[in-house]
Amino acid sequence: MCDILKLKSLLDAGVMSKPKRMCEVEGCEKKHYINGYCKPHNYRVKRYGNPYSPTLKERFDRSYIPVPESGCWLWTAHVGKTGYGSICYKKKRTGSHRMSWMIHNGDIPEGLLVLHQCDTRSCVNPDHLFLGTYKDNAQDCIKKGRDNRLCGEDNHNSKLT
Ligand SMILES: [Zn+2]
Ligand SMILES: [Zn+2]
Repeated sequence: MCDILKLKSLLDAGVMSKPKRMCEVEGCEKKHYINGYCKPHNYRVKRYGNPYSPTLKERFDRSYIPVPESGCWLWTAHVGKTGYGSICYKKKRTGSHRMSWMIHNGDIPEGLLVLHQCDTRSCVNPDHLFLGTYKDNAQDCIKKGRDNRLCGEDNHNSKLT
């Protein structure tokens, strides 16, 4: 058998991978790597049991640890220097407490912030979050700073205790 024929029969037998085989996941344009998938999709199959990206809710739900004492859900995925957690969604990094609000309560009206009742910046428990303006936030900060967190009547902390 000449070399070209040998090569062809190897290709036909599937012994050698065909040069242009693509990943089998719909919409994926990456080159085939192993088991029908490209490298990242194969990794997902091994790790999560299916090649598809986890939904936002699934990603969210495995990224925090509930603390029984305080009821806080502490974000564990990515917490920045400021103490706020964040999550990548649609190629944008979003505050994880904001994402929590959107998942559980829907969109955040423009111009409003998602603030913490519990004062724990990495907390993503929707029950500990409330909407406020920048002004509310500033006043909240000043109040908490000035009172050294010993709450006055209208301090948000007092609602929890
Ligand atoms: Zn792929
Ligand atoms: Zn909390």
